[in-house]
Amino acid sequence: MPVTPDDARLMDVQQGGRCFFCDGPVGAKATFDHLIPQAYGGIDDPANVVLAHRRCNQRKDDRLPTDEELDRFFALRRSSRLGVWPPLRALRDGDEGADEEERWMTVAQAMARER
Ligand SMILES: [Zn+2]
Repeated sequence: MPVTPDDARLMDVQQGGRCFFCDGPVGAKATFDHLIPQAYGGIDDPANVVLAHRRCNQRKDDRLPTDEELDRFFALRRSSRLGVWPPLRALRDGDEGADEEERWMTVAQAMARER
């Protein structure tokens, strides 16, 4: 389900009004960044979305979140109703030191289980 205005407000509070990527203040100019890009099957749902500056969102482009970003995301979502999309959990729980291709494979398999 797409992010509702209520979800966005809660995200803003939980991120402390800061951009997920650069930690700078973002406020009302925040854009929705999909941690697993929609172009690659990421869902448009709060469980896959963070608030970010437009420029940080664009700079991130279509890569997967790093381990450090996943750790921060999981910390933000601990006991939050906004939740975590299972493929993000699969990615975090994947092999340490996996290369980008292996990480994409992990995500693809987890997304297949969601359908
Ligand atoms: Zn930013």
